[in-house]
Amino acid sequence: MSGTDLAARVAELKRRRHAVILAHSYQSPEVQDAADYVGDSLGLSRLAAKTDAEIILFCGVHFMAETAAILSPGKTVLIPDANAGCPMANMVAPRQLGEWRAKNPDAAVVTYVNSSAAVKALSDICCTSANAVEVVASLPAGRRTLFLPDRNLGAYVASRLGRELELWDGFCPTHERMLPEMADAARARHPGAILAAHPECRPALLAKADFVASTTGIVEFCRTNPAREFIIASEIGILHPLGKNSPGKLFHPLTSVADCPNMKLNSLEKMVWALEDLAPVVAVPPDIAQKALAPITRMLEIR
Ligand code: SF4
Repeated sequence: MSGTDLAARVAELKRRRHAVILAHSYQSPEVQDAADYVGDSLGLSRLAAKTDAEIILFCGVHFMAETAAILSPGKTVLIPDANAGCPMANMVAPRQLGEWRAKNPDAAVVTYVNSSAAVKALSDICCTSANAVEVVASLPAGRRTLFLPDRNLGAYVASRLGRELELWDGFCPTHERMLPEMADAARARHPGAILAAHPECRPALLAKADFVASTTGIVEFCRTNPAREFIIASEIGILHPLGKNSPGKLFHPLTSVADCPNMKLNSLEKMVWALEDLAPVVAVPPDIAQKALAPITRMLEIR
């Protein structure tokens, strides 16, 4: 089947199944174009909580589909490829967080949504890259805080708030590939272009950026900023929504190697299979879902 035929088949199955398709901005362009909504973890979490659809096809990685399942009990959450996981989320196991908590019984635990449901279930509050600063700021200033699993996002939040955070040593392998010297080279290639970066990048790279935000924040910033040319330090899938939202502007990836292989496991063909077979289903055991819902809800109440 051609890409056009596959997209038509996805649309037909979606109608027949009363499904909604959510896609993260790091998905491949054809997957994003087949979705009802494209966005970042925070936006998609909110949509998952609100949708009336009986079936959610979540084109992203496993932890995102888990969050949708937690927020939408009674609905069927599908993911096109069950192997689409997130290496950062796998960098902390529930047992490790349990031990960290036990050593720091007075500390608040802030967990980036790029984590398993079982890890969220052991946390006080969750955050995304779009609201991490507000979430940490909502805690009393003197409170010791453990932040996991992304050391780069944690360091960024700490610097924005002038607070000390204790950081888990996790990171996104895709964003970690982007080096500060690449920023210098890109600026030399594209003089005058604005450099926008995602906070999962290394602190030394963020220090060279003109603007730091989540994927949706970057898309919105570039849409509203009068500049015509931007260098983007984030996963390269974001170039698709950037181009669609800001026609006529020029976007240069900091590097083409910032391509998350896990996100790209999903495809139009696998979307068809998922909607035909109603599998793979992403389900969270009820006891874990119940415990994980509290820190996610606390986050959503803040922003
Ligand atoms: S881009 Fe990074 S954080 Fe996002 S899914 Fe891929 S590895 Fe995980």
